[in-house]
Amino acid sequence: MQEKISRRMLFKAGLLAGAAIPALGVIYNSALAADLPALDPADPTAKALGFVTDTTKVDDATNPTHKATQKCGVCAQFQGKPGDARGGCNIFAGKSVPQGGWCKVFAAKPA
Ligand code: SF4
Repeated sequence: MQEKISRRMLFKAGLLAGAAIPALGVIYNSALAADLPALDPADPTAKALGFVTDTTKVDDATNPTHKATQKCGVCAQFQGKPGDARGGCNIFAGKSVPQGGWCKVFAAKPA
């Protein structure tokens, strides 16, 4: 028995594939971020940007614009999802940062 494949069936299959591909990309990116090595605060670029793994440890005397609410997890450069313990950072390519970290490049995610 041979079935004819209608244009409508091809269109529906294309829509389903189109919806599935971005979802796979999100899953793939999250998996990649989890596998990234942790950014070392002793890294020269990290040091220059005042990176710390814990925002509560920031020296406010040398970083007067720092606020306790600023941390990687709510930074526009953070590539992880809300609630992720770690995620990639657009500034430190190939490394992961903790959601509670901070550096001088911090910029709040747009609401
Ligand atoms: S740019 Fe943002 S996410 Fe990256 S280390 Fe600095 S504060 Fe954290």
